[in-house]
Amino acid sequence: METTDDKMERRLYSHDLAPLPKEMDLIFKTMPDQVVRPAYTEDVVQIVRKAIATNKPIVPRGAGSWGLGGSVPVKGGITIDMTGMSKIISIDETNLVVTVQPGITWNALSEALDAKGLFLPCYPSSAPSATLGGWIATGGTGIGAFKYGSAGDLIRDMEIVLPTGIVVHTGDKLVPQNGGGPNLNWLFVGSEGTMGIVTEVTFSVLPKPEELRPVSYSLDALTTFQPALKKLVRSGVAPMHIMLGDRLHFDYLRAIGKHVPEVGCLITMALTGTKAYVDMEEKVIDDIMASVGAKKESKETAQHEWSERSYEFRVRELGVGAIPGEILVPIDRMNVVLEGTAKLIKQLKMNAPIIGTVADNNTIMLMPYYLADEHKLVASTAAMGFAKRLGDLAFENGGRPVGLGIFFAGNLAKYRGKEGAHLIRNLKDMLDPYGIMNPGKMVETGTRYGISMPAFLMNFGMHMMGSVKRILPRDKIGQKELAKLKK
Ligand SMILES: Cc1cc2nc3c(=O)[nH]c(=O)nc-3n(C[C@H](O)[C@H](O)[C@H](O)COP(=O)(O)OP(=O)(O)OC[C@H]3O[C@@H](n4cnc5c(N)ncnc54)[C@H](O)[C@@H]3O)c2cc1C
Repeated sequence: METTDDKMERRLYSHDLAPLPKEMDLIFKTMPDQVVRPAYTEDVVQIVRKAIATNKPIVPRGAGSWGLGGSVPVKGGITIDMTGMSKIISIDETNLVVTVQPGITWNALSEALDAKGLFLPCYPSSAPSATLGGWIATGGTGIGAFKYGSAGDLIRDMEIVLPTGIVVHTGDKLVPQNGGGPNLNWLFVGSEGTMGIVTEVTFSVLPKPEELRPVSYSLDALTTFQPALKKLVRSGVAPMHIMLGDRLHFDYLRAIGKHVPEVGCLITMALTGTKAYVDMEEKVIDDIMASVGAKKESKETAQHEWSERSYEFRVRELGVGAIPGEILVPIDRMNVVLEGTAKLIKQLKMNAPIIGTVADNNTIMLMPYYLADEHKLVASTAAMGFAKRLGDLAFENGGRPVGLGIFFAGNLAKYRGKEGAHLIRNLKDMLDPYGIMNPGKMVETGTRYGISMPAFLMNFGMHMMGSVKRILPRDKIGQKELAKLKK
């Protein structure tokens, strides 16, 4: 097991995808005191025991590709970098399950499966860097979820080191967990690294489909897609993945010189199965998309978009960070939410492209993103008010924002109600009696002083950040490049 106290190295662990302005250090101690890289479960057990003995917080971390501060300490302590635990323990071709350490990236696992004629049914689009453990802890949706289910649906079993140092298994390696008590897999899915550390995962896989065929359709506006999507989810066809991007997203990509067709808004789907089955699905989808006036794009465009599926945030080249606001909303409310989002973007004087995926047969995930400069304290923190208001828009429409992390713990009661949030806090206290496991997240917004910010204050503060954003000058990042493009 490697350990480092080196300041430069520790600094690298003081942020995730969304960089925080350095002034935030007044509230949070984001730099860990120590970073450890375990190789085995026993190493993790030792770290937990040491944390209990010295009363130090521990923060599990994968690739740091989440944007809500889940893997960033709020009061220092020990960051456990899980990326060293990246071994494939077994690939069981007979039973179609794979057992791995949690620090493996989705791409590394996918390549190993591919070599054996197997296929990962679902993975996040951050697959080149994101780890299995990180995705499980965030309870993500992703590529393949529409047809095959999300992260949690595909887990057979996990080994977890609890905050007391006890090691438990949550399921059965070869069969799903039906009955026989509550499903423990789901207790840890989405628990954001606050209830236990995933040290081993057994995941369901599939034989590689005979054909994986991307198809793309362009539209004038994302709202035009809603009636088609409603038909599609009732048609009996099931694309593996459905992803969308609006005109501004593709304009930004062109502005940074990427090869992008001039398409307006684009919907790309990936179809899997035998060749005959995929031919049939393509025909049904062509008809549905034609019924809303969508134009079918070339095979090359579809293939290009599919190969770019993991690189949605390439426009980060234009600004310091692309901070996404991610919401899940019922497909029936998609257009109301898209219109509300456009209004919000205008009010807050932002430039925010919208990308998204279809999560399941009644849910769409929308992810507007914007470029923020973390060196400008007011502008960058004020822009977080957008994520808060976007979340509220989702709640108003029967959906919800995705993830709590440091800043949105105040939403827990909105998700689950007062009593439900109380139950989750009690579970956390029971599993983590010493309060060492990633404290100050999910169930509370902790600070470096050990005092939590009251949820109402945090919610009010986030809302007010939106009001500040309204009176600031319009965002400028990327505008020069866009103007050049239009000349
Ligand atoms: C380009 C891009 C595309 C993305 N696409 C998707 C997508 O399609 N779907 C999606 O859901 N998200 C997506 N994300 C968000 C992010 O990549 C995912 O949430 C990812 O799964 C996080 O994995 P990670 O290894 O980076 O975890 P980290 O960011 O390091 O950690 C995330 C959380 O997991 C906890 N954690 C990490 N490892 C463990 C462990 N072993 N045990 C317990 N807790 C742990 C951390 O404490 C933290 O709370 C995307 C991000 C980017 C940049």
